[in-house]
Amino acid sequence: MKLPPDAPVGLLGGTFDPIHFGHLRLAEEARETLGLAQMRLIPAGEPPHRDTPRSPARHRLAMARLAVAGNPGLQVDDIEIRHAGPSYSVLTLSRLREQLGPTRPLVLVLGADAFEGLATWHRWEELFELTHIAVANRPGHSPHGRRWPQVLSPELAAACDGRMLADAAALRAAPAGGILPFDMTPLAISATLIRDLLHHGHSARYLLPDPVLDYIAAQHLYRDADAGT
Ligand code: ATP
Repeated sequence: MKLPPDAPVGLLGGTFDPIHFGHLRLAEEARETLGLAQMRLIPAGEPPHRDTPRSPARHRLAMARLAVAGNPGLQVDDIEIRHAGPSYSVLTLSRLREQLGPTRPLVLVLGADAFEGLATWHRWEELFELTHIAVANRPGHSPHGRRWPQVLSPELAAACDGRMLADAAALRAAPAGGILPFDMTPLAISATLIRDLLHHGHSARYLLPDPVLDYIAAQHLYRDADAGT
């Protein structure tokens, strides 16, 4: 698909272990609210900043594809899974920047919990040269209000200084470098919750798309500690 050159492209990285309605509403609401021409969901290959995913990449990728099927506004990009080695966001963003050109606005979409840990990411300060960052609320984590900067580490709060954007229109004014908090429908859903429910034989229905649940059942994922390998 040919995009107008200033149309921002949104990027949502995650382990997606499994993908759920929290991720999907985040992607859909970011696409609409931020005026994104495209929203790419990027399943992590080997996430360096958390426990090794329970399910292999091929399953997490398949579930993400099932979840967005039928929605032309959301795409799954396997860029991190295709490249061997740790999934550092800064490397993925550099590759995407090369692919999409130096002037296209890129918007990395994060839940506020993920943003709060940004200063622990590999070469995190370089991210601001590669992309804008849009931060959504997640139950227990809000990127709004006067208390927000206080929950950030001093170095991250300092990096935010002078980068806050007033509205989504500002995303088109530069290819990278801004931070934009935005509101999404709060959904207290996490992949951890879903894995725990399934592990204990409980229903996870209505927390994630039915085709993903069917895939989980067919592949016997999340039943026990070493399932899905
Ligand atoms: P886990 O429970 O395994 O840690 P998770 O549900 O937090 O997983 P991730 O794949 O780690 O999901 O999250 C990817 C991105 O999606 C992160 O930026 C995270 O903040 C965001 N996100 C996940 N769930 C929600 C939600 N319910 N509301 C808002 N943002 C979310």
